Amino acid sequence: MSREIQYSVIVPMYNEEEVIEETYRRLKKVMNELNQPYELLFIDDGSQDHTLEKMQEYSKWDQTVKVIEFARNFGHQVAITAGMDFAEGEAVVVIDADLQDPPELIKDMVLKWKEGYEVVYAKRIKRKGETVFKRVTATLYYRILKALTDIDIPINTGDFRLIDHKVCDQMKQLQEKNRFVRGLVSWVGFKQTAIEYVRDERIYGESKYPLKKMLKLSLDGITSFSYKPLKIASYLGILLSIVGFLYMLVVIYQRLFTDTTITGWSSVIVIQLFFFGIVLSILGILGEYIGRIYDESKGRPTYIVKESYGINERKSNESF
Ligand code: UDP
Ligand code: MG
Repeated sequence: MSREIQYSVIVPMYNEEEVIEETYRRLKKVMNELNQPYELLFIDDGSQDHTLEKMQEYSKWDQTVKVIEFARNFGHQVAITAGMDFAEGEAVVVIDADLQDPPELIKDMVLKWKEGYEVVYAKRIKRKGETVFKRVTATLYYRILKALTDIDIPINTGDFRLIDHKVCDQMKQLQEKNRFVRGLVSWVGFKQTAIEYVRDERIYGESKYPLKKMLKLSLDGITSFSYKPLKIASYLGILLSIVGFLYMLVVIYQRLFTDTTITGWSSVIVIQLFFFGIVLSILGILGEYIGRIYDESKGRPTYIVKESYGINERKSNESF
């Protein structure tokens, strides 16, 4: 059975009232040009401003608009996940609300998809208007991620991408709670390709990714796809105990056979601090993994939908 809807566009939104009108307008334009039935899935990730009201308004008179309202802020990655759960299209596009990812690129993605690619991701060849700090940390992060994980997560690639419904169906099977969507898409495989683009700057509003959320995302990326940090921790532990043991022999030797008295406490303190630092970071790494195991074992749902708009009434006389 072929699907009624050809394209689903997932747009996670968190306090995006300044930009939503333009996003809506530009998305409509692009999607109308594609000339196939589509749906715009707006996920309201617990916004505190008027984002939701505006979406509701659109969904009243535009049948292509569907809105999922989360009960609270669950985070960008979870919002995308919900979008994938609800998407009905043959091809599913994930795009940021802030127009940093130009909607016009969807047309190029669709062309690639029609060539037979099942995942078309958009690779940033340039990032405009981002701080040096963000650019440096991002580049560094993607390198580390590549070194630590065995799966091929493309560098400088966010969640802006098109996936075939087959890939989307597989994504729905993956139940993990701390999600790193771009990694999971790589993990499921399928025929993937990239298109390159220049990432625009955010024109309206501010980034909704403060350092804390960024940090969580990066840790999720590493811990979901690699346990090398645990291995590194244990190797480091072994290495340091060997060094400690050798140094102990030296100290004993000095005490017994030489006159050199051990001078000062500074060396002792320095070594203490160093070892404590190492031990604590190893504990921290363990904690990251244990916390995630704990999250999974609770078996809570990944998100809670408070309300949805425009989702069930659809079905008949699709307009686009
Ligand atoms: N976002 C979200 N929940 C959050 C944070 C962000 O749904 O808790 C959405 C946000 O509205 C935007 C996308 O995720 O559509 C990317 O966020 P942002 O542009 O702030 O990230 P950046 O481009 O600065 O990395
Ligand atoms: Mg952005």
